[in-house]
Amino acid sequence: MKTADECFICQGLDRAVARSEDGRAVVMPFRDPFFEGHVVVAPATHTDTIDVDPATWSAMGTLIPDAIRGASDEDTAKCYLLALGDVDTGHLHFHVVPKKNGDVSLGQYVFGPEGWNVSR
Ligand SMILES: [Zn+2]
Repeated sequence: MKTADECFICQGLDRAVARSEDGRAVVMPFRDPFFEGHVVVAPATHTDTIDVDPATWSAMGTLIPDAIRGASDEDTAKCYLLALGDVDTGHLHFHVVPKKNGDVSLGQYVFGPEGWNVSR
């Protein structure tokens, strides 16, 4: 698990574009956006999934719809909401990834013709 000093969210909190009213959660641009407008919603302090308190879950739940609206415009076909935790373990975050009309679908990277697109 990464520490706060190694965490891209903790180290990028000064780039937050929105905060919950209670300051428990933030919206910030993702460091390596898949599509333009890709942001993450995360606790404002270094918090792993198992340790998130109900008030912080609530703060993130309030920010996620705002982040989706903020990432979308008239050319947005859909907005993906993802929680992966593969690489950046140690700080819970949700990706909000707007897909414009004509952009590739992310589904092909997740689901293959036989189901989950992973090798085991
Ligand atoms: Zn962190």
